[in-house]
Amino acid sequence: MNTTPGLVCSHHHLYSSLARGMPPPPHTPIDFADILEMIWWRLDQALDLDILYWSAKLGALEAIRQGTTAIIDHHESPTVIDGSLSVIAEACAEVGVRVNCSYGVTDRHGPEGAKRGLLENERFLKDGGKGMVGVHAAFTCSDETLESAAQLASDFQVGVHIHVAEGKVDAEAPARIRHLTDENWLIIHGVHLEEDHGLQGTIVHNPRSNMNNSVGYARPSRFQNRIALGTDGIGADMLEEFRVAYARHREDEVTATPDISWDWLAAGWDLFPEAIDDKVTWDYDQLDAWHLAYTSGVRPLEVEIGDEVVWKDGLSTRVDEDEVRAKSAEAAKKLHERL
Ligand SMILES: [Zn+2]
Repeated sequence: MNTTPGLVCSHHHLYSSLARGMPPPPHTPIDFADILEMIWWRLDQALDLDILYWSAKLGALEAIRQGTTAIIDHHESPTVIDGSLSVIAEACAEVGVRVNCSYGVTDRHGPEGAKRGLLENERFLKDGGKGMVGVHAAFTCSDETLESAAQLASDFQVGVHIHVAEGKVDAEAPARIRHLTDENWLIIHGVHLEEDHGLQGTIVHNPRSNMNNSVGYARPSRFQNRIALGTDGIGADMLEEFRVAYARHREDEVTATPDISWDWLAAGWDLFPEAIDDKVTWDYDQLDAWHLAYTSGVRPLEVEIGDEVVWKDGLSTRVDEDEVRAKSAEAAKKLHERL
């Protein structure tokens, strides 16, 4: 048996696809807050809608070539908020990848910026877009903004997609959002959550990103919540993320088995059930957790999304990969020059 449903990346930032190769920051970041300020908050400010389009399209293409057919995206582009979610949705639709969009609301740019972020979530959902209400993180939001986001999500019967306790800087988050959370919320990271945090929703574990940001190991197996896996913007190779999740789990606990990390990956199908009907044919036929945990480089031969073959013989059937790569490189050059 060499087929699976389409894989799901339960937390991504498609706007970060062009970050690779960006010029170094003014100084080497010394902690998580510094990484946000020196890297991501400079990058997101420099985005325009054209750069965002090519970033999302490249990210979508890179997802599909790894058998990932559904992405739950979290977006921020403070200089071009209005319409940004539709740009991401359009880029993904052209490649054929399913996407769930949300705009990361924050008070970092004052209450007016937060309001525009809320309006972008509302506009997108009202237009029938598939999405959630995004919030950057409690530590960059006022209580009023957190409450407005929760209310908006409830009005549209979707969840809130929010980073929680990724670094120690956000340790106060549970106390501030506990009364607002619901089962349909996505709680991203949870590295510094206590076991009895009392938050409802799915905790999305991003093991490689947590290592990259040196924030610590989330030890997701200690939580009662459903656990899913995301990449936090470092591509969308979910078999690779599953392997990293297992390696970290095993490093922490010698009795850990890959079935548990596989369950985390499979939880993506609860969050994005449409992907269950997608079909990925792999170049390897022992697709159980123990084999995959120790077999690197397993690749799709064919990817079918909603009865349409979108990837075959190493090529997208929808878009010209050479062109996407060339245009993305031009957009990356423009972005890096702004930094
Ligand atoms: Zn994230």
